[in-house]
Amino acid sequence: MDHFTYRNGVLHAEDVPLPVIAAAVGTPVYVYSAATFRRHARVFREALSGLPRVHLAYAIKANPNLAVLRLMANEGYGADVVSGGEMVRALAAGMKAEAIVFSGVGKTHGELAAALDAGIGQFNLELEEEGEVLARLAAQRMREGRGQRAPAVLRVNPDVDAGTHAKISTGRKQNKFGVPIADAPAMFARLAKLDGLDLRGVALHIGSQLADLAPLEAAFGRIGALVRELRTAGHTITRVDLGGGLGVPYREDDVLPTPADYGAMVARATAGWDVELQFEPGRVIAGNAGVLLTRVIWVKPGSVAPYVIVDAAMNDLARPALYDAWHDFVAVAPSGARMTANIAGPVCESGDTFAMGRDIDTVHAGDLAVFRTAGAYGATMASTYNSRALVPEVLVDGDRYAVVADRVSPETMIAAERVPEWL
Ligand code: PLP
Repeated sequence: MDHFTYRNGVLHAEDVPLPVIAAAVGTPVYVYSAATFRRHARVFREALSGLPRVHLAYAIKANPNLAVLRLMANEGYGADVVSGGEMVRALAAGMKAEAIVFSGVGKTHGELAAALDAGIGQFNLELEEEGEVLARLAAQRMREGRGQRAPAVLRVNPDVDAGTHAKISTGRKQNKFGVPIADAPAMFARLAKLDGLDLRGVALHIGSQLADLAPLEAAFGRIGALVRELRTAGHTITRVDLGGGLGVPYREDDVLPTPADYGAMVARATAGWDVELQFEPGRVIAGNAGVLLTRVIWVKPGSVAPYVIVDAAMNDLARPALYDAWHDFVAVAPSGARMTANIAGPVCESGDTFAMGRDIDTVHAGDLAVFRTAGAYGATMASTYNSRALVPEVLVDGDRYAVVADRVSPETMIAAERVPEWL
């Protein structure tokens, strides 16, 4: 459920008509609904309320805007970060260091050191060598009288096919993430001996936009067996990080498992584990909390179907070009008429096409429209390709709105570039 609804024939974000934002900020622009973020945060928490100990770490890669992070911090969420930059953002937004989980397959020595110095709550180790480096960095700090053993869990690859798009599948053995589950017990034993590490458990994340809970349940079953094996070997296991991945409906008639379905499955799969369960939801919180508001530049006749050329492009919303992803496209003030059209942006790539042969609201040059479900993996993946301005972001809260990320102009970008004097 979201708070983008038609009132008197005009699409609103909560109480704000989208044409008001287009007039004030211009297009393209991402528009987020604070009420939708809050609702999703609460529904997800409620779905897990039957579990004994839970830590919620919003996967900020989905939407790392500072205002969004502040909102999520106010909802009691910590953060799952995958880079030093994301950690800086989470801290800048007011999230507590101990509520931050540091995931990511390629953390640099510098990032590990900075995260130790910040006192983050957990490192999710992706390989043995990373654990050894982290242990050394932590031990060095302990000798200098600052810092403690690094709190960590070992990310395991359970070799489960999540049934999602290949580019967002992370839990098969050929994927780059985690350590093979068969190697985990011996590796855990070696890492647990290191002075600088406080190894507390295991983690997994098998992919994103999961439409079926069965692969997740299978993966959780494997992790449960691993936890038992580790305990039998004498290890103390107090945390299991179950990652994120729950999908969202991108099309009106998509039927996906709800957070309540997910919560019931987790309760079943983890019964008796006696650990703190950690969750890293991203898309399920942010996906339907945002739209990309755009204006039609031209309707260009085509040999098969007309091309609706909009002022948003693949550099603003990369998902269709990256994953052949679907985003519903609706007019802000639909007339009721329909047309079959291709929808494309102005970038000089045929890949800059959002949809082909789609049945859509009839639109004309100058009309406003939105791509729905653009709150996750939207603005955060934006680039300035073709020297297009970096897309701005607006947060609506009831009848208020604020620009929460400026449009970054080509002039600003050029100001960060240099022509050497010898040219
Ligand atoms: N945790 C990790 C380690 C991830 O890599 C991701 C994204 O792929 C997430 C959490 C968030 O996933 P989602 O947005 O599907 O919930």
